[in-house]
Amino acid sequence: MPRRIRLPKRYTVIVTRPGGRAFSVNFTLLVPLLLLALLLVWGAVSFKLAREAREASRLREEVRVLAGQVRRLSTDLLAEQNKNRALASRASEMLGRLDALEAELDALRKRAGLSKAALEKKAPSPGPVGAGRPASTEELFAALDAHLQSFQDRLEGVVAPALEATLKREAATPQGWPLRVKTYIASGFGVRKNPFGRGYEFHNGLDLPAWYGTKIYATAPGRVIEAGWSNIFGRYVKIDHGYGYQTLYGHMQKIAVKRGSWVKRGQVIGYVGSTGRSTGPHVHYSVFVKGRSVDPRPFLKTPVYAAR
Ligand SMILES: [Zn+2]
Repeated sequence: MPRRIRLPKRYTVIVTRPGGRAFSVNFTLLVPLLLLALLLVWGAVSFKLAREAREASRLREEVRVLAGQVRRLSTDLLAEQNKNRALASRASEMLGRLDALEAELDALRKRAGLSKAALEKKAPSPGPVGAGRPASTEELFAALDAHLQSFQDRLEGVVAPALEATLKREAATPQGWPLRVKTYIASGFGVRKNPFGRGYEFHNGLDLPAWYGTKIYATAPGRVIEAGWSNIFGRYVKIDHGYGYQTLYGHMQKIAVKRGSWVKRGQVIGYVGSTGRSTGPHVHYSVFVKGRSVDPRPFLKTPVYAAR
């Protein structure tokens, strides 16, 4: 059986000084143990405090850096918001200007004789921006982009070609009177009494009286396809204008153009006479559309363009 070490319960420390009085301190074992424990606890606590202090100062530094970043970000954000607002107002302004251009495009569409339905079928307009709420900048720009694309499609893809065709057709359409002196319609288009005998006949043009030698003008540009003599029209000229239009000028005293030549609108093509089946000096003026004679009266006026 091992021998058990037994520590004495009580201790006495004697302190002496040379020439002085000695004194002693009595204490139990518990006292140094307590002191030791206190020392250990104090050390641990101060170590922990030091560590926490370091941690706290690191955190403070971190917070300071973060606060700086937040301040910078909020400044940037404000700048961004201002930029965003400026962009949004620019987009709204451009949409407004496009709306104004829409009115001009619509006028061109009408001028081209193109119906709204025909245009929409070929290139539809974009829908409205937003849906009863303020639109975001992204939506405004998307709308602006769509609107511009649609505008371009409608203008360049549909309206401009239609307008060009219309203008060419109009340029080829007989327009105005073949005489530039005061005259009147002595005999109109349609069924009339035969001026040379009994019964009725179909008069395929207008008879416009004027003095012998009065200049006769082409009412549209074109190519002279006939220039010669006919028993009915005497000396006459027939011009092909394209787009199905032809005009005929009859009873001339003298012809001023040759077959096959090209004439301009307003060019002198002959002079008033009373050749052929005629009772007095006048020009017989006929307009043909796709080979059929039509009443020339609507062509005497400044043209009224079809628009829906
Ligand atoms: Zn006639």
